[in-house]
Amino acid sequence: MDHFLYKDGALHAEDVPVSEIAAAVGTPFYLYSTATLLRHYALFDEALEGTDHLVCYAMKAAGNQAILKTLAQAGAGMDVVSVGEYLRARAAGVPGDKIVFSGVGKTTEEMRTALEGGIRQFNVESEPELEALNAVALSLGKVAPITIRVNPDVDARTHAKIATGKSENKFGIPIARAREVYALAGRMQGIEIVGIDVHIGSQLTDLAPFEQAYRLVAELTETLRADGHDIRRLDLGGGLGIPYTRSNQAPPLPLEYGAMIKRTLGHLGCEIEIEPGRLIAGNAGIMVSRVIYLKSGEGRDFLIVDGAMNDLIRPAMYDAHHDIVPVLEPEAGVEQRPYDIVGPVCESGDTFARQRDLPPLAAGDLIAFRSAGAYGAVMASEYNARPLIPEVLVKGDQFAVIRPRPTFDEMINRDTIPGWL
Ligand SMILES: *Cc1c(COP(=O)(O)O)cnc(C)c1O
Repeated sequence: MDHFLYKDGALHAEDVPVSEIAAAVGTPFYLYSTATLLRHYALFDEALEGTDHLVCYAMKAAGNQAILKTLAQAGAGMDVVSVGEYLRARAAGVPGDKIVFSGVGKTTEEMRTALEGGIRQFNVESEPELEALNAVALSLGKVAPITIRVNPDVDARTHAKIATGKSENKFGIPIARAREVYALAGRMQGIEIVGIDVHIGSQLTDLAPFEQAYRLVAELTETLRADGHDIRRLDLGGGLGIPYTRSNQAPPLPLEYGAMIKRTLGHLGCEIEIEPGRLIAGNAGIMVSRVIYLKSGEGRDFLIVDGAMNDLIRPAMYDAHHDIVPVLEPEAGVEQRPYDIVGPVCESGDTFARQRDLPPLAAGDLIAFRSAGAYGAVMASEYNARPLIPEVLVKGDQFAVIRPRPTFDEMINRDTIPGWL
């Protein structure tokens, strides 16, 4: 459920007409709903009620500080995958003891910054990383709390680019080798083992792969405890999918996911961490764009819009589907026609949808790409010298620009010219 609905014939974000924001900030832009962000966070929080838990929002999905602050004020922790994200979360007011540091290639500088600034735990992904973290911690006279990310070799049955839990993926330590690596960690003076971490992929639409992985984690917990390790926290990763189309079979609800977690792991008495990103931000954001031209080709009509693949890369990168809706509500029963919706970038891959049925549209009309809140703005680039598009946050009847559109001068003047030119 989200808060982008038609009211009085026009698409609204909560109580604000989208066209009003478009007039104020220009197109294209990203638009987020506070109520949807909070609702999705609350769904996870409630799903784990009765269990000691922390929902750590995977901020790589949408990292604007206004979004982080909105979620942090509701009680969320953060999952970060770089020191940039760590510093961004801290700047948004998130305390270090609510930040978990994931990622397969943390550098020693990143470890140092997080250890000095305060961190809930590092999710360690290899032995060399463990050695490096131990050395950094000892050099600072600190002890680094860690989990080890295990790779359970389960098939997440999702897009190949976002599956992370098979043995051929670069992530984690093979679960069969976990005992050995925990033993190594247990001998290190700069390391404190606090638990186990697992994350098998993104946009999962079925609970079975999660359950398979979590059963293996339950077994491993008992094994490691028997080996003398104090396993008190289980970080179960993110990955629960969202409905990108209304017609599709809906993915499992957070409530069902939470019930499964309690069923498979509840008996262990561990604190539970989860790291949802997409499900919190995905349907809490849209990208608003304007039709520049309607171009009639050989047997097909192209809607050329002012948003492009550099602004929203998911269709080009993951063959992703985004529902596209006119901002002006179509009249009931209006006849739809197929359009190819494309951006202005010089690549055929700059295509958002082919032969998509939409009500008649013309140059100047506003459209919205739904479900664009996660892995949208954060993956944008300035390809074709197109400045990063602004982000706007709505709350009730208020809206605020939370990242302005840079001017062309700001974009161009970041280059520096060597003295010999
Ligand atoms: C990307 C990622 C997540 C979030 O995944 P979603 O599919 O957005 O929920 C959580 N944890 C880790 C370690 C990740 O890399």
